Amino acid sequence: MTLQIEQLPALNDNYIYLLTCSETGEVGVIDPTDAKVVINALGDRKLSFIWNTHHHADHVGGNEELKKKYDCKIFSSLFDAERGVIPVVDRGLEDGDEIKLGHCYGQVIASPGHTDGHIMYWFEEDNSLFCGDTLFSAGCGKLFEGTAEEMFLSLWRIKSLPHETEIYCSHEYTKENLQFAISQQPENRDLLVRYEEVSYLRDQNAPTIPTTLEEELKSNLFLKAETAKDFAELRNAKDEMDKMVVN
Ligand code: ZN
Ligand code: FE
Repeated sequence: MTLQIEQLPALNDNYIYLLTCSETGEVGVIDPTDAKVVINALGDRKLSFIWNTHHHADHVGGNEELKKKYDCKIFSSLFDAERGVIPVVDRGLEDGDEIKLGHCYGQVIASPGHTDGHIMYWFEEDNSLFCGDTLFSAGCGKLFEGTAEEMFLSLWRIKSLPHETEIYCSHEYTKENLQFAISQQPENRDLLVRYEEVSYLRDQNAPTIPTTLEEELKSNLFLKAETAKDFAELRNAKDEMDKMVVN
């Protein structure tokens, strides 16, 4: 494993991922919502790349300040780059394109659904997927731009990766997601076991991310949906529940 991953909490429940090639020391970042958090974590190191998964402010918020400070190269999907929604982007990426950090190689996987131009970054040799707001532990992203069919297919792309893949989601939503899942399937033992683990971690303010594909195949009802129609019904039920939560 040559990819080193630092998980940086930001805003209320976001995670920024700082990636370093342990052989060359080169550094890149996935979805730097807050430049200050990244600058603090970098210390004396410099930043060579920013990779954005999609255009929401809680993913691209630090682009401008980091570009100014480090003159790093910024990548997003070609779709988002062309529609002008990514601050100071340098290059657009398409499904199957390769990204490179020192001796580490990542592959771009298109995952429309949460937004039309959403992409994920898969470092196969390092067994790691950075999936933005496509998959969450025990949940998935809301459909802001795409259709249920598109999201269903994007989740299939994740399901077809090796089961030991470590999944780095952009938000800490696991506990709330499990509460919803348990309301749907109160008898499901896998959900109850996972809820206990997750509650224990959250009580200590510890992250529940990364998760693994193996875990999600057991306890993520959105990944278990067998048809796009089942998926759409589940997504609607979750959206209804979210509306009822008073913040
Ligand atoms: Zn988002
Ligand atoms: Fe987000």
